[in-house]
Amino acid sequence: MHRKSEKTLVILKPDSIQRGLIGEIISRFERAGLKMIGVKLVVPTAAMAEKHYTTDPEWIMKTGRKSIEAYKKNGKKPPSDNPEEVGKKVLNNLKHYLTCGPVVVMAWRGIHAVGVIRKLVGSTEPLSSDVGTIRGDYTIDSYEIADLDGRAVRNLIHASGTEDEAEKEISLWFKKDEIIKYNLVSERILYDINLDGILE
Ligand code: ATP
Ligand code: MG
Repeated sequence: MHRKSEKTLVILKPDSIQRGLIGEIISRFERAGLKMIGVKLVVPTAAMAEKHYTTDPEWIMKTGRKSIEAYKKNGKKPPSDNPEEVGKKVLNNLKHYLTCGPVVVMAWRGIHAVGVIRKLVGSTEPLSSDVGTIRGDYTIDSYEIADLDGRAVRNLIHASGTEDEAEKEISLWFKKDEIIKYNLVSERILYDINLDGILE
């Protein structure tokens, strides 16, 4: 499949909605040239939140390892050296975070959609997300403070990490007919090979 039809799933987490950032975040994706192909406002159930994060069976271990590494990199002692234990705790906290209020779930399509959106979103921990990214510009939180308070890191947004993750997540949140196939006029200048429709 051509990369211009790559799809990705985005969730504006409850803190985005509460902070009035829906429009701001959507406009960053639009101005990069991506196309919204599905959108809904929902209050996720704990079961949906768990399904969402465990569509990747490796997620618990990977998240546990990533969190332990972040502690060590900052010269801090992790709460446990067991990635499964740390990962499960993160999942529990995430369920609480995602179910506390409405979220906006969206599917986006366009060239390198997964990578482009991850780049605009920034890295997981807002304390170290780059300036200019959504997580770096609009919020502040750290693994350390989140763990101290026994909660998930509040980082405004979820974005699929890989094309495979995106496929699974889109089919989890959307029915087939909720994903719309349509053209945007801007796609002519982004993707048209001959560029022969501009001059009169
Ligand atoms: P997302 O999947 O939400 O886009 P991500 O891929 O950058 O974020 P993951 O490692 O998949 O990060 O973690 C999922 C979410 O879990 C993070 O966005 C964050 O809200 C929360 N989280 C991850 N690790 C921790 C941690 N150590 N402590 C608290 N919360 C965490
Ligand atoms: Mg992830």
